[in-house]
Amino acid sequence: MQKIFLFLLVTCITFLTAQDFKPWKPQIDKLSSFEKHVLIDKGTERAFSGKYVHTTKEGVYRCKVCGAALYKSSDKFDSHCGWSSFDDAIPSAIKEIPDADGRRIEITCANCGAHMGHVFKGEGLTTKNTRHCVNSISITFEEKHKKLMESEKK
Ligand SMILES: [Zn+2]
Repeated sequence: MQKIFLFLLVTCITFLTAQDFKPWKPQIDKLSSFEKHVLIDKGTERAFSGKYVHTTKEGVYRCKVCGAALYKSSDKFDSHCGWSSFDDAIPSAIKEIPDADGRRIEITCANCGAHMGHVFKGEGLTTKNTRHCVNSISITFEEKHKKLMESEKK
């Protein structure tokens, strides 16, 4: 009996601790294995394989895990690097963390911690001198509704 109690206690503590480190855990079951590989295990999709690499439509890019708005299409540019590139993020939406490789800076969703890619500065590609190199599989694109765009012009 004591052993069972101890087992339950350890399971509980493990579960609670895991929740602390991975706030997006409740969504994990909804992700495909490749999405988990990139968003949680910080993997990288192959260059030019992402669905948004050449997307130029107007809209907002959201975190695949929690839905937070991260990037605006107006900040997207063609860097020819093979991944979706933005020279800015929506304020406070992205967190920059020194990468485990000791060289690069990792970018994650500030809301849930999901891995987006890396940020590179000083390349001189745009006036903002910044390139957020984002895996398409980490984000979802929400196209701006045409009617909304028309009403904004008035
Ligand atoms: Zn998120």
